[in-house]
Amino acid sequence: MLRSASSAIRRVAAIKAPAQMMAARSFSTSMAQHNISFALNDDQRAIQELARKFTEDEIIPVAAHHDRTGEYPTELIRKAWELGLVNTHIPQAYGGLGLGVFDGALVSEELAYGCSGIQTAIEANGLAEAPLMVAASDEQKKKYLGRMTEEPLMAAYCVTEPGAGSDVAGLQTKAVKKGDKWVINGQKMWITNGGKANWYFVLAKTDANAKAGSAFTGFIVDGNSKGITVGRKEQNMGQRASDTRGITFEDVEVPHENVLGAVGQGFKIAMGAFDITRPLVAAGAVGLARRAMVEATKYAVDRKTMGKAIIDHQAVSFMIADMAIGIEAARNMVWKAAWLKDNGHRNTWEASIAKALASDVAVKSACDAVQVFGGAGFNTEYPVEKLYRDSKIFQIYEGTSQVQRLIIGKGVVDRVTK
Ligand SMILES: Cc1cc2nc3c(=O)[nH]c(=O)nc-3n(C[C@H](O)[C@H](O)[C@H](O)COP(=O)(O)OP(=O)(O)OC[C@H]3O[C@@H](n4cnc5c(N)ncnc54)[C@H](O)[C@@H]3O)c2cc1C
Repeated sequence: MLRSASSAIRRVAAIKAPAQMMAARSFSTSMAQHNISFALNDDQRAIQELARKFTEDEIIPVAAHHDRTGEYPTELIRKAWELGLVNTHIPQAYGGLGLGVFDGALVSEELAYGCSGIQTAIEANGLAEAPLMVAASDEQKKKYLGRMTEEPLMAAYCVTEPGAGSDVAGLQTKAVKKGDKWVINGQKMWITNGGKANWYFVLAKTDANAKAGSAFTGFIVDGNSKGITVGRKEQNMGQRASDTRGITFEDVEVPHENVLGAVGQGFKIAMGAFDITRPLVAAGAVGLARRAMVEATKYAVDRKTMGKAIIDHQAVSFMIADMAIGIEAARNMVWKAAWLKDNGHRNTWEASIAKALASDVAVKSACDAVQVFGGAGFNTEYPVEKLYRDSKIFQIYEGTSQVQRLIIGKGVVDRVTK
């Protein structure tokens, strides 16, 4: 049975936190802004506040534990789901809250402030759902988006393979039609939520002779399908709470009704999803950078050398000033990319700029935060070494910083010459 938006709100109301209840009640109204404004409306402030409070109360106290152990934050994600902080963009028609990309970006920034590994685990649902938002039929949305709102399930986006990440056109996973089913064979790699997913979005080649634009098809694959082997949890440098795995598909049968859009449209659908998700990844990078700035500032005000607080050494305060410059600029770019999408404009170029800028800001801010902490920054007793390790992946997943620059560079040429 589909969970309506009002039942989502009732569920949130069952949680005994007045501020959170107030925020939840206001979710049902549309939050998309149609006029340019840097002021958040009441609903947006409410959801931002809800995510901030959740981060403070629930994420920050356990972030180091999940980083150290690599334990998946199942219980924490369940609580976030109860509050409506997971799957934010699923339309109300399918039981979700129907929030826009802009509102999702507010949530992502706050969650990543606490732990970008936990935020990535949550956000990976959004990444898997985005192709469905782009191309699924009403029936597919009811079935697969609907169930995400009925219980705290996870989903995963399976595009990358051991031999092809940036080079999406080089994917080798194949799907062959047999009667009214498709049979998928191939191997996917680096799949976030890979070991936790109830269903996967899978991109597979369906026409070996066609160009990339029509050679691939997107499928929704049930997680319990026969022939799926889930690999071991990868031991990553950072964001260790998140679950990253290889997934093997061996003669996995998928009914034709699980084809997304039309056969041959998969490449466009898989890439179109990034217009929704890249601003959200970028928002996560802004959240991490903000945390680095806050931690560095608190330490710099406290720590004394040569008779004064290190914040009073200009070399230190300038590092922190640069963090602020980057954070403010990157957030504004995130908001612009999100606003464009919410208001029906093409945002691919702006989403790439936001993703590239925010990732670089996150890595530099975390690196400089370690520098501000001196020796203590290199030690696991303090929070900044984790931020440094966590930050690097922002320049790699959902399109590397080089791939973003390919898109941005091409966009500049188009804008200048056409
Ligand atoms: C923790 C983690 C989580 C991930 N989650 C997911 C997920 O949920 N789903 C999913 O499908 N994938 C996921 N990925 C995969 C990720 O998107 C890819 O790793 C990424 O796109 C890069 O691909 P690659 O690793 O094959 O590197 P490659 O494509 O081999 O790139 C190697 C280097 O070459 C550069 N390069 C490649 N081509 C060019 C070019 N044309 N011009 C300039 N430079 C170039 C790249 O920028 C990079 O620096 C995840 C990866 C990690 C590490």
